[in-house]
Amino acid sequence: MENTEERSLKRKKRVKRIRKIIFVGFPVTILVLFVICLILIARIGTLKKALAGVRDELNFYLEAQSEREFAENIAAGVVSNAEGVTALASQPETEDNTASGEMTSEKMSDEEVESLLLGDEELYDGFRRVYLTFDDGPSVNTGQILDILKEYNVKATFFVIRKDGRNNEKLYRRIVDEGHTLGMHSNTHEYSVVYKSEEAFKEDTVSLQDFLYLVTGVESKYYRFPGGSSNRVSHIDMKVFASELHDMGIEYYDWNVSAGDAVIPRPDSGTVYSNVISGILNHESSIVLLHDTASKKSTVAALPKIIEYLQSLDDTVILPITDGTRPIQHLTTD
Ligand SMILES: [Zn+2]
Repeated sequence: MENTEERSLKRKKRVKRIRKIIFVGFPVTILVLFVICLILIARIGTLKKALAGVRDELNFYLEAQSEREFAENIAAGVVSNAEGVTALASQPETEDNTASGEMTSEKMSDEEVESLLLGDEELYDGFRRVYLTFDDGPSVNTGQILDILKEYNVKATFFVIRKDGRNNEKLYRRIVDEGHTLGMHSNTHEYSVVYKSEEAFKEDTVSLQDFLYLVTGVESKYYRFPGGSSNRVSHIDMKVFASELHDMGIEYYDWNVSAGDAVIPRPDSGTVYSNVISGILNHESSIVLLHDTASKKSTVAALPKIIEYLQSLDDTVILPITDGTRPIQHLTTD
């Protein structure tokens, strides 16, 4: 008898234990799993951001490399340095030239180059023209750059990429509202996407143009190729993309003066300043390549001094790129 009661008691205890597990243990397990999921989702978000940062850095690094190679080519005379317009010099083709590929044409005479560059903005005939251009923005520095330009009453050109978010939209609008030229620098700035094919390039450009139109009401007609038209990253002849842009009624602009602010290790503001000034003093018309990304603090720091120096020269004007501006293009139209 006692045994039966004992068994019954034990069974009751077991049932109670099982109920406890079901009613308490189960929800607790679910809750723990839920919290783990939330942590993992947050972690994935962080990793994605980090990955995007690394990808951006890589793209900008490739770009800096293109710019450096281009500068070295000018120094080595592989490309013409006559006012920075860049027909390949008509030298015998070296192995290097053939391998790098794309640009083969005749060298322009100095007079031709000069007339190309000085045909714009008649109002400023006889003046040395300087076009300050900022690539890769908007960024956390754009507001400060715009403030400096406003303070000195200078108009510049921003070759932007697509960045979503209310803050960025405000910056695109500030660029336009404050009288600067809004240019395009590709939607994604990812070489593998932008230069994948002619169709992909067109899609990327139209997508950015539409985006900017929606945000600012301005249809941008100005373009700067990621890495410049002389980049060596694209596997497709850059002339294909250049002709695509012309079909779309868009003009592209390279540069003949580089601030050298994209190189690693990062230059200090004094180096950026002297790169820009020494470049400008060598040209009658300068399209100056500067960068607007979070890491380019020295560019922002150098900007007031650059402007102050240029404004102290009686024969020099700082202008935004407009329809009347003669483009500087690293590719030649042959
Ligand atoms: Zn860029």
